[in-house]
Amino acid sequence: MSKNYDVLIVGGGPGGLSCGQYSARAGRKTAIIEEMAAGGQTMIIDEIENYPGLGKISGYELAAAFEQQATGFGCDFVYATVNSIKRLEDGSFELDTTDGAYLSPVVVIATGAKHRNLEVPGEKEMVGHGVSYCATCDGPFFRNKKILVCGGGDSACQEALYLKKLSDDVTVTHRRDRFRAQASIVKAMEEAGIKTKMNTTVQSINAENGKVKSVTFVNKSSGETYTEEFDGVFIFVGNIPQTQLVPDCEKDEAGFIKTDRNMMTSIPGIYAIGDVRDTPFRQVVTAASDGAIAAHYASEYIDARAGIKY
Ligand code: NAP
Repeated sequence: MSKNYDVLIVGGGPGGLSCGQYSARAGRKTAIIEEMAAGGQTMIIDEIENYPGLGKISGYELAAAFEQQATGFGCDFVYATVNSIKRLEDGSFELDTTDGAYLSPVVVIATGAKHRNLEVPGEKEMVGHGVSYCATCDGPFFRNKKILVCGGGDSACQEALYLKKLSDDVTVTHRRDRFRAQASIVKAMEEAGIKTKMNTTVQSINAENGKVKSVTFVNKSSGETYTEEFDGVFIFVGNIPQTQLVPDCEKDEAGFIKTDRNMMTSIPGIYAIGDVRDTPFRQVVTAASDGAIAAHYASEYIDARAGIKY
């Protein structure tokens, strides 16, 4: 039998959990459907220092607090995979999940984004043998070893700072001569003594005896190609939005879902929040804000469908 809700949220990261909290608190029957743990990518952040009002807190603790608050207001948390979302004739939606069918007039897409690969020879083969996409998960394997971080955004620079606590020898390599990361993070990186290779691309990750041995670089300014030994290569070169469930929603050129200021997508009743949305600045606080906004306007949308006007 189908389970009926007012609001169904797909994805239990900070955006989804905040949306669940606001929606349930507004008296809407709400469920978050998540296939992994509550908290999404926040769970693997070692330390968050810029969530307002909380000082320094681990991603794990912050995620747990978000979940507690959402469920405390009566939001259901369902561990399941959503296979598809079908629009019904009356404009409501049926979600086919590994926990059966769910029905609601509003669906909030909070599916986030997954890491992008560097796409160089040796990368795929060496995942788990020296190549990683998660510093908190795999950093401790490279304590006091020689570590390379690839990328120039907030993730690369912030994760390099975490890795520097584990090893004195951390280098960040970036394809341009300027970091994309926020100035405060770049400054902290400089102060921590993290080495940089700017204007440099990775040509290949080289293995010996089944694990990473070295990396071959190309210096874009001089054209020089050279190889240097590294034990661990951490790759943070951006993210790919997870939009497979809503192929018909309008997207920007990078594939992120377009929304209006109420977080509604091009399909009435479908909202998108957090890292999956076309927003220039992605933070835990902005995802949480997206969630609150979506919950508020989704509630108005439900009233409008019922003929209630303000
Ligand atoms: P991002 O901001 O998209 O940065 C990706 C970086 O990887 C860019 O520097 C990009 O270079 C580089 N890159 C992309 N493709 C590449 C390739 N094929 N080869 C080499 N380099 C490549 O991604 P992110 O750092 O994961 O951040 C994602 C979002 O989360 C951002 O909005 C960010 O602000 C946010 N975030 C915030 C915090 C924080 O506030 N503490 C922490 C982590 C993430 P170019 O610069 O040349 O494009």
